Amino acid sequence: MRRKRIGVDMDGVVADLHSEWLKRYNYDYNDNLKSEDVTMWNWHKLTHPNCQEKIYEYLDDPGLFENLPVIKGSQEVIEELSRSFDIYFITSPFNLNNIAPKYRWLKKNFGFIAEDRYIFTRDKSVFYGDYLIDDKPSNLVGFQGIKILYSAPHNKHNDNSEFIRAENWREIKRFLFKSETY
Ligand SMILES: [Mg+2]
Repeated sequence: MRRKRIGVDMDGVVADLHSEWLKRYNYDYNDNLKSEDVTMWNWHKLTHPNCQEKIYEYLDDPGLFENLPVIKGSQEVIEELSRSFDIYFITSPFNLNNIAPKYRWLKKNFGFIAEDRYIFTRDKSVFYGDYLIDDKPSNLVGFQGIKILYSAPHNKHNDNSEFIRAENWREIKRFLFKSETY
């Protein structure tokens, strides 16, 4: 029997993009926004009047993606899951400059997953797998397998009944090992 495949998104699932993005924004605009304040996907409306859509320019800086903190529990749980499942990282780079830093970040923090399992695409429906873990609801909608929504302030009002909501990696581990028997 083939091993089941799990697709894992990067930003907001294993890489804490918002903490670093907010740190830079708060410093530049003398603001005090916190991760829990970012309650929408396109959150420029929450920023200082002088910032607004300029908030997305931070994503053009490859250095931003190079040093993101790892989301708590993700390394340990993915390492454990990788013994029973085939893990693929599947991420949508904001622009081409971000591919290399994202690749290096994965090598540094998840070196135990082979690099031929890194997928860079804007259309995650190309992923053929059994589970997909993502914090962006629209990435899950077109997926054919089991859709796991990684909780974030920006998706907390999403109540799509097709999604399994996970608050953290401990819950993902519990769900996946309960769903599968070996
Ligand atoms: Mg994401």
